[in-house]
Amino acid sequence: MIFNSLEELNSNLISCQKCPRLVKFRVEVGINNRRFRGEKFWSKPVPGFGDINGELLVLGLAPAPTGGNRTGRVFTGDKSAEFLIKNLFEAGFANQPISISIDDGLKLYNTYITAALKCVPPDNIPTKEELKNCSLYLHNEIDLMPNLKAILTLGRIAFDSLKNYLDEKGLDTRHLKFQHGKHYDINGLRIYCSYHPSPRNVNTGVLSKEMFLNLLLEIREYIGKDKN
Ligand code: SF4
Repeated sequence: MIFNSLEELNSNLISCQKCPRLVKFRVEVGINNRRFRGEKFWSKPVPGFGDINGELLVLGLAPAPTGGNRTGRVFTGDKSAEFLIKNLFEAGFANQPISISIDDGLKLYNTYITAALKCVPPDNIPTKEELKNCSLYLHNEIDLMPNLKAILTLGRIAFDSLKNYLDEKGLDTRHLKFQHGKHYDINGLRIYCSYHPSPRNVNTGVLSKEMFLNLLLEIREYIGKDKN
């Protein structure tokens, strides 16, 4: 662990320039966006959000161009956020069903959300090197969660990023295969897999509301209902 607190980690994170392609892209998408013309984009690495002392970690892929990269908060202001937060609310992990801006009053219960990659990648596809660069922050964040009990990985890249974390801890992860709805118990942690709640998956029915909410309710049952 390099950073001993989340504050220290985030103050280093937001000025990170390790990935030249992403440093350029995170600014360009703000300048070139027509829908939000005139709005000042965050256009920096996006920190995690929620309760670092929580028992649940929700792990996404990366900030969306007009979501986290615009608003400065992970899963905020885009379609994936709309789907994720509405369902987290219905399952009792959030105080409200919307996540539209950094000052919208959203609070997470017993839950911390972050992404494997902290900067928006072109076409939502990071390179291996970019993910490796950013793993420094993700691994440190996980190490900073003293009460962590369950991790919900959203999509294969998030799942593989978590596997890398577990590999680095010297754990045998060869039996861990990404499959929506499946969970694994490893070293005192329960790892859940879900398809990413991206519009592409939600609009095509790959991930339905029922599938996602049922998984969240299963996690809630596992963590314990009395924790909010
Ligand atoms: S993706 Fe991560 S490592 Fe790369 S520039 Fe952004 S914060 Fe730094």
